[in-house]
This record gives sequence, structure tokens and C-alpha cells, in this order.
Amino acid sequence: MNSVKILIVEDEQLVADDLRETLEHLGYIVPALVASGEEAITKAETLRPDLVLMDIRLEGKIDGIEASFAIQSRFNLPVVYLTANADRATLERAKASKPFGYIVKPFDERILATTIEIALARHQTELKVKEALMAAQNNQQLTESKSHAKSQQFYMAAHEFRNPLTTIRLSSEMLKTYGEQMSEQRKQNHLNRIVSATDSLTNLLENILTLGKAESGSFVFNPKLMNIVSFCEEIINSWRLSLKEQYEVKFLTNTTNFTANLDEQLIWHLLNNLLSNAVKYSPKGSKISLLLTCEESSVCFQVKDQGIGIPPEFQAKLFEPFQRANNAATIPGTGLGLAIVKRCVDLHKGTIYLDNTISQGTNFVVKLPLVNRD
Ligand code: ADP
Repeated sequence: MNSVKILIVEDEQLVADDLRETLEHLGYIVPALVASGEEAITKAETLRPDLVLMDIRLEGKIDGIEASFAIQSRFNLPVVYLTANADRATLERAKASKPFGYIVKPFDERILATTIEIALARHQTELKVKEALMAAQNNQQLTESKSHAKSQQFYMAAHEFRNPLTTIRLSSEMLKTYGEQMSEQRKQNHLNRIVSATDSLTNLLENILTLGKAESGSFVFNPKLMNIVSFCEEIINSWRLSLKEQYEVKFLTNTTNFTANLDEQLIWHLLNNLLSNAVKYSPKGSKISLLLTCEESSVCFQVKDQGIGIPPEFQAKLFEPFQRANNAATIPGTGLGLAIVKRCVDLHKGTIYLDNTISQGTNFVVKLPLVNRD
């Protein structure tokens, strides 16, 4: 009770002094005595007392009830009336201002103390209820916005399926209806379109399933000791094989041998997605490099290309599912690869960013901390 501050609003000096003495005797702090409603509002704002003890008839233009309305609504402070006015009309007006107590003068010390304690306790309870309601409301809003984001993702996924399906449908209709009259070359063109549309559907489906796994929590972080240098070498060799010298694929590292506690599967998704983007968004004949820097407490991967680059205005959306930059519109893609990469980085508690210092192309920098490294 000791640090409870009570502001006294009373225009009769003698009563005010008597009240201050009683309250201080009861262990409360009285930071100020004021005589008008206007002053009461100002002091309530600057002193932020725990409770206001308010007379109704006051000096100045506004009475205690009007001041109480302002204090409760603006500063959410409890007000207890202490007044000689006990007529019906005043009581009705006072009731409308929802006071925390109403004491008729001359006051009894015990009644004063009990009323103040009950008012303080009720105010605390009301604050807690309000806080709980706000938290529940915020939770509901969060759930609603999450479920909105989810349905948006479903909508976008469905939309991405439409183009390849339309291609398959059109080309197979053409083959079915006009196949016999078609030249071998045209037939081949339609078949090629069907194969490539099927490939993009498979790719899309795989990415959606991977992202779904990541988001549902079944993409668990399962680190084990691995030689990260030879792992990267294997990945780069398999890219070199599949690209058949169409790109100059480089692997650079600051060490020949480094064992680190990392999740092999997540690193595989991470590097393959970044390398596949580097290839997809770069012209043939250009250079693609993976730079691995191993340090005592972290490993850093940099995947660099000389391609179309990422426009600055798109960078804020880079890791959101189904988002694609305008300059990539004519290049097939699902907009899911970087969202998967981000989940892999997050599971390692690492960071990923786009290095803006390069003049051409893209350089993604991924830094993963190492824990329990042997
Ligand atoms: P996508 O399947 O479209 O490549 P990602 O999630 O992997 O999906 O990438 C999201 C977008 O980021 C791409 O559509 C592209 O606009 C941009 N992007 C990603 N990597 C690169 C890169 N190496 N060069 C240029 N743009 C890139």
C-alpha cells in the first residue's frame, strides 16, 4: 500500500488538509491537493496517481463529475467521490460517470480506507481483464491473418498449376484432332510442350510439398557431422555434369577439409535451390560460383551469378512464397525456391542476404552458425 499515490481534488482548504493528513496516516502518498476540475485533469495527466479522491462541487468551470469523466476516459484512472452532495440528481449524474466509490461527508476514516482499497483492487482487476481481452483479440487477429495468408497461398498455388495444365490440354487436343494431318515436326513440338509442362508441374508439386513440409514443422533440424567441403564438391560436380559445359561452374573454398555439425538434407535443398536459380537467371556461357568460407564458429556460402539480377523493389518480397520479380516473368519458375531456402536457413538459426555490392548478377550470402563442432 505504501507507494499508492492519491490525488485530492477538494476546494475547501481545511477539508483538503484533513484528508491529506488522514491519507498519509493510512500510509498513502498524496502528491498534490487541487481545488478545480481543470487542475485535477492536468495533475492527473502529469502525476499519474493510482486513484483520484474527488469532491463534486469545485472551483472553476467544470465540476467533479465532468472532471471525472475526462480523467477516466483519458487516463483510465479510478475516481472515488467524496462529497457533501447526496441529492438524487447529483447521485444519478455521478452514477453515469461510473465511479469506483461514493463517500458522503463528513467521512469516516475506516469507510474511507475500505472504499479506497476496494476501488484499487477493482481497478487492478479491470486492467487485467482488459489486458486479457486485448491479448485474445490480438491472437484472433493473428490467426485470421495467418489463415488469410494460407488461403492466399492455396490460391496462388492453384493459379500456378493452370498454365502448364492448359498447355498439356491444348497440345493433346491438337494431337488428337489434327494429329494425322500434322507434320512430324509439329507433332514433335506439341509433344515437347507436353513434356516440358509436365516437368514444370512435377517441379511445382515437389516445391509445394517441400514448403508444406517445412511449414508444417515436419522439416526438422537434424544436424550431424559432415564434411562440408566434399559435400559442396559433390553438388558442384553433379551440376557440372548436368549443365554439360553450358556454364562455367566454379567452386572456391578457404580449406580442403572441414567437418561441421549441419543438416545435410537442409543444406542440399538450400544449395540446390540457389544454384538452380543462378543457372536459370543467367545467360549460357556465364560464370556461376559457389564460395565456401569455413570458420571456427560459422560456415558461409556465397552463390554468385552474372545473370539478370534482382530489382531493388522486389527485394523485400524475396523470401515470400509465390513471389516473382518482374524481370523474371518470361523465365519459368514457381516462386517457391527461396521460401524453402529461407526455412532451411532459419532452421540452422542462420542468416541470408543479397549482396548488393556487385554490379551485375546476383550474390546470395548464407551464414550458418556452428554449434558443438568437434
Ligand atoms: P522461382 O521458381 O521463381 O525461381 P524462387 O523463390 O527461387 O522462385 O525465386 C523468387 C524470385 O526471385 C524469382 O522468381 C526471381 O524473380 C528472383 N530470383 C531468385 N534468384 C535469382 C537470381 N539468381 N537471379 C535473378 N533473380 C532471381
